[in-house]
Amino acid sequence: MPQSQTPEQLNQEKTGLGNYFIANYPPFSFWKNTNVADALTAVNSPPRPGTPLGLYLHIPFCRKRCKFCYFRVYTDKNANDISVYLDAITKEVELLSKTACVGGRPLDYVYFGGGTPSYLSAAQLDALMTRLRAIMPWDGAREVTFECEPGTLQKHKLEMLRKHGVTRLSLGVENFKPEILQYNGRAHLEEEIYRAFGWARELGFPQINIDLIAGMVGEDWDNWKQCVEKTIKLDPDCVTIYQMELPYNTVFSKELKLVGHDEPALAVADWPTKRAWTKYAFEELEKAGYEVSSATTVVKSKAKTRFVYREALWRGADMFGTGVASFGHVNGVHIQNVDTWEAYVAKLDAGELPFGRAFPTTERDRLIREVVLLLKTGHLDVAYFRDKYGLDVRQEFRTAFEHLSRDGWLTLDGESIDCTPDGLMQIDRHLPAFFDPQYISSRYT
Ligand code: SF4
Repeated sequence: MPQSQTPEQLNQEKTGLGNYFIANYPPFSFWKNTNVADALTAVNSPPRPGTPLGLYLHIPFCRKRCKFCYFRVYTDKNANDISVYLDAITKEVELLSKTACVGGRPLDYVYFGGGTPSYLSAAQLDALMTRLRAIMPWDGAREVTFECEPGTLQKHKLEMLRKHGVTRLSLGVENFKPEILQYNGRAHLEEEIYRAFGWARELGFPQINIDLIAGMVGEDWDNWKQCVEKTIKLDPDCVTIYQMELPYNTVFSKELKLVGHDEPALAVADWPTKRAWTKYAFEELEKAGYEVSSATTVVKSKAKTRFVYREALWRGADMFGTGVASFGHVNGVHIQNVDTWEAYVAKLDAGELPFGRAFPTTERDRLIREVVLLLKTGHLDVAYFRDKYGLDVRQEFRTAFEHLSRDGWLTLDGESIDCTPDGLMQIDRHLPAFFDPQYISSRYT
C-alpha cells in the first residue's frame, strides 16, 4: 500500500456500491439527449480517412438475471417479442448502412454482445446473420466475436456460428463451483462449460476466450485456485478476468438497500483480495505460457491472439452500437441508443435511428480517452501519441505521470510508459488522475 493513501482512500478498499471500472471518457453521465442532433450529424458526415469501422449488436436476452448484472436485459420475452426485436435491430443496421459515415468502408470488426447472444436459437441466429450479412457483409472483417453462456449452446448452434464467420467465441464461465454459480444467479452448470468448450474446439473456432469473475459472492481462496487450475486445463486462447463490482440497479444492490446497509452485508471480497486473486491467476497463467495483454486479459501469444474489437475501439475507431441502450462512437461523437424496449422498437418502426443521448468529443477528450483506455493495456507508446496528436503525453500529463510513477504504479523509460504489475491490477482507480477537472468525481453511469 503506498504511504500516500489517506484513511478515506483505504476505506475505498471495501467493495461498496457503484461502478469502479472505467470503460469510456468523458463519463457516461455527461452524455445528453440534447446532443442527439450531433449524433445525427456525425452519422451523416463522411468518415475520417483511415478510420476502421466496427459493428456492435446488443442481444438483450438472458435465461435469468445474474444478481450482479446491471445491463439492459430481458428474461421474460417470448419468440414473438424476439422476432420483433431482431427485425428492429436489422432495420437499424440497414438505416446505418445508408448513412454517409459508412462511405463504402467495409466492416473491420463485429461484436455480438449482451445479454446473451447465444440465447437465440440456431434458426433465429441463421436468419439474423443471413439478413445482416446481406446488408453489411463481414466476410472481410478481421474479427467477429460472439458472447456465449455455456448452458445455451448446442453443437448445431455453434456450427451455425462457424458457418456465418464467427472467429472469436467468448464463453461466460465466471466460476466453476455450482453453489457459487447458483447463488450469484448464473444459469449454467459446471458440466455445460466442458461440453461447450469441447464442441467449440472440435469445430475449430480460431479464438476461444473464457471470462472469469474474481470475487463472486461466496468466493474463497481454495475455490479460486481450483477455478484457475480448471481454466488452465481447458487451455483457452485467451482468459479475461473481471473483478466483481456491485453497481447500482442490480439484484444484489437492491438486497443490500432492503436491509438498510450502505455496506454490503454479503460476503463480497474487498478490493485488495480481488486484486490478489487476479494477480494469482495471472501468475499461474503466465507459468502456463500465457502473456498479460491488459489489466483484465491474458493471451496465449500476444502476436497471434489479438482482440481487434478492443484494440480498434480504444484507439478511437468508429463503431455503430446497435440494439436497445447500446453504446457507439462515430466521427468523434459518443452515442447511446434509447434505453427502453418500447422506445427502441417504436423509433425503428417509424424509420428513425434510435439515438437516445450523445456527447460530441473535442480533440482533447479523444486524447484523454486514448491515454486512459490504452493505459489499461499496461503500456503507452509516446511516439504513437506524438504522431497522432502532435504532442508529448509525458509533458501533457506530467503531474499524473509523476504521481503514479512516484507511488510505484508505472515506470517512464524513454518513449515507453509501462504499468508495473501491481499498478496494472488497479489501474482503473488511478485513471481519473488524467481526467479534465470538470469530469472528475462524477457518478460514472
Ligand atoms: S448473462 Fe450476462 S447479461 Fe445476462 S444477466 Fe448474466 S451478467 Fe447480465
